[in-house]
Amino acid sequence: MQRWRADEHWMEQVDRASLLSAVLESIEDGVLAKTLNARISFWNHGAEQLFGYTATEMIGQSIFILVPSGRHAEEERILANLRDGKRTEHPETVRLRKDGTEVPVSLFVSPIKSAEGTIVGGATIMRDMTAHRLAEERFRLVFEASPSGKFLVAHDGKIKLANSAAEIVFGYAKLDMLEQPLEVVLPAYPQLQRDHEPEQGLLVPDKAPMIARELWGVRKDGTRIPIELRLFPIATESGEFTLAVIVDITERKLAADLLARQTHELERSNAELEQFAYVASHDLQEPLRMVVSYTELLKQRNMGRLDEKSDKFIRYIVDGGKRMQGLVNDLLRYSRVGRESRAFETVDTARMVSEVLLDLDGTIKATGAEIDRGPLPRVAGDAVELRQLFQNLISNGLKFRAERPPRIAINAECAASESRFCVEDNGIGIEAQYSQRIFQMFQRLHEREAYEGNGIGLALAKKIVERHGGRIWFESQYGQGTKFFFTLPLVMKGIE
Ligand code: ADP
Repeated sequence: MQRWRADEHWMEQVDRASLLSAVLESIEDGVLAKTLNARISFWNHGAEQLFGYTATEMIGQSIFILVPSGRHAEEERILANLRDGKRTEHPETVRLRKDGTEVPVSLFVSPIKSAEGTIVGGATIMRDMTAHRLAEERFRLVFEASPSGKFLVAHDGKIKLANSAAEIVFGYAKLDMLEQPLEVVLPAYPQLQRDHEPEQGLLVPDKAPMIARELWGVRKDGTRIPIELRLFPIATESGEFTLAVIVDITERKLAADLLARQTHELERSNAELEQFAYVASHDLQEPLRMVVSYTELLKQRNMGRLDEKSDKFIRYIVDGGKRMQGLVNDLLRYSRVGRESRAFETVDTARMVSEVLLDLDGTIKATGAEIDRGPLPRVAGDAVELRQLFQNLISNGLKFRAERPPRIAINAECAASESRFCVEDNGIGIEAQYSQRIFQMFQRLHEREAYEGNGIGLALAKKIVERHGGRIWFESQYGQGTKFFFTLPLVMKGIE
């Protein structure tokens, strides 16, 4: 209490005029006073800093020294307002420095009265807006220089700023969009606004931006366009705004639609083809069996009873029929891969390879083959199909052997996401040019007389591996041997 009284006492002693002048001299803003006939009568330190003139230079000078020629009318209006006892505010205008350069300022002018109450002039406060202007310009540049359409939207949903890309997306001139509700081009905006922040408008600065959404936009000509919208909260000196960033995704949508249609069409025609191959091979089996068995019968009954040529013809028919039976059977086996949808299970490939080797024991012994095997992993897959895969690759290694006794190695390496298997042999090898051809159905590199087979084994292997989400390829040195590689992903389709 004691102290407060002392302060009051202190204030009584203070000369108000000297307090005022101390304040006026210490503030950064430029403060000046002028008479009604535009003569400068007061000039503080801030004004000196702002314009480069000293008080001595300026007192008694016309205020118009500071006014660029294009803005004289503005100053006249300020003076007229003063005479009427009114204040004037210009948040954004320009004045001249002593060196002739322009300085962006905001100014606020209010009338000064004499002791009798008549208006004798005006006091002006001016603030240097250079930094503000620069920041604003930078913002405008960033706002403008973007391939995305941008809108600065106020809390009432009205567009305060639009960039050229927005002009292109929606077909409106920038100026025509200002002060329009964003709803005009984005009908869903009010709903978004309501869903997001019912009380405070769409977004507030401490909230995260709205993740991208695909919506419809409406162009000036009334057509709808698919767009992707992102909303960001922006806090500025003049309040909180929402920045709406918009990308026209018409092309992307068209491409995606086309891709979806093509994929669907491809799946359809693939399924149709598979169905065709299955039905054809399945239904051909029966009549073919009949042809083969009756020509066999014909052969048994008539061999040696007819002339030599007829015997030969019958042999040809029987051979051809049997070959055709083989092909039809292979085709059926091929079209069956993936048809019987067995659920994937955990398959112990080490055990599986042992079983396959047991099946091939006769050939292994007959050829004197040496088998080498490393540790093999468990994978997830269709056991019946995977067994066919190992069977085909290992028996090919034995079949396409060179003069030397065959040596076959079966190994696997496990990486983070897949197991890579390798079946290696020291056989005749494959020329690099056939890298694709050997995986095609019924494609072989040799005469049937040299190595028996129909050329279905690798086509089956490829289909099985790909159905399991893996890849198959080989590396070979012609005449030295071949390594067949295939991968099986550790987590496979159908397995969670
Ligand atoms: P097939 O064994 O019935 O001929 P495949 O589809 O299994 O059919 O193989 C296609 C062709 O690829 C074979 O005819 C052969 O020329 C070549 N081939 C496959 N495996 C090997 C191998 N391990 N070494 C050399 N050539 C091979």
